[in-house]
Amino acid sequence: MRRVAATAAVLASAGVLTLSGCGALGGEDTIGVAMPTETSERWIADGAALSDGLQEAGYEVDLRYAGDEGGGYRQADQVQEMIDDGVELLIVAAVDGAGLGEQLAAAAEAGIPVIAYDRLLLESEHVDHYVTFDNYAVGVAQATALLQGLGVVDEQGELTGDTGPYDVELFAGSPDDNNTFIFWQGAMDTLQPYLDDGTLRVPSSLTDVGAASTQQWLAENARERMAVLLQSHYDDGSELDGVLSPYDGMSRGIIEALQLWGLGPSLADGLPVVTGQDAEADSVALIRDGVQQSTVFKDTRVLADSAVDAALAYLEGGQPEVDDTTTYDNGAKVVPTLTIDVEVVLRDDIDEVLVDSGYLTAAEIAAD
Ligand code: BGC
Repeated sequence: MRRVAATAAVLASAGVLTLSGCGALGGEDTIGVAMPTETSERWIADGAALSDGLQEAGYEVDLRYAGDEGGGYRQADQVQEMIDDGVELLIVAAVDGAGLGEQLAAAAEAGIPVIAYDRLLLESEHVDHYVTFDNYAVGVAQATALLQGLGVVDEQGELTGDTGPYDVELFAGSPDDNNTFIFWQGAMDTLQPYLDDGTLRVPSSLTDVGAASTQQWLAENARERMAVLLQSHYDDGSELDGVLSPYDGMSRGIIEALQLWGLGPSLADGLPVVTGQDAEADSVALIRDGVQQSTVFKDTRVLADSAVDAALAYLEGGQPEVDDTTTYDNGAKVVPTLTIDVEVVLRDDIDEVLVDSGYLTAAEIAAD
């Protein structure tokens, strides 16, 4: 497929990127792909993998990123434009899961199938299919990595007999993203017994998802909240032992705040245990350097392939593959879903899980 690099760069900077083998923008043989943000590596990888897969299958791709500031509204406009342009199918990773009702109804009216990508589209009957990772397992993996980092459980997840007490703080993702609540549920189901028996304590007492949430998943919002928590609850010299963080970008913001407070700079010299998600290169480098404790690897290549397969099934008049076991209720219907496994990554797993699989190169994650 031919790509027009210069044009693509210009359009990409405007949040509009149409990757086309031939022909005009939109219309027949074009698939609309709406992604949330380019400030996180994973969504760039998702967008690229979806474009490659759909182009290989002979389709044009109208790929758009909503961006962070005002992203929910921008994405609604982008999706509406794609519908108006007559795309054949939509693949949407929502900024605001419940914010696209009008557009989804318009898509259904126009006979355009809609695939929710990674994040469930909420409160609409007009969602045909959902491809995602095992989001509950992500939360369990993050909480388990926190417990391992503290020394409460070993690498097999068995109790070590160390009952702390350990002081931790908890961070959740953006409240407009359905995944936030599933990650949190998985994490809290895992941590609750240790909070109940006093092995873990949360000095701020902020243990509900609303209070712990982080608007737009932004690193700077997490960094600021961490700084406020330190000033409010640790200024008397109390020790913070760990932080549950649901996403690598936030984890890096949290680590910055901790280091600025004088902790660390690495785990070996007292930096609290900080978890993560997405295996972003910058965070994997921090894990290799002994700074961040863990991440969760979600192979975006597999997710994109599944979305492409589902799209082709619809376009060829068939039905995509779904799970028998996992269902997601979006508030208006139970959406047929395909879920993909995830894998926790600690320092010793980096080469085998991320480099050998070709997800990241050794150069991308080279230690400083
Ligand atoms: C995704 C995560 C990602 C987060 C922030 C979630 O919906 O599932 O992989 O870390 O958004 O972009």
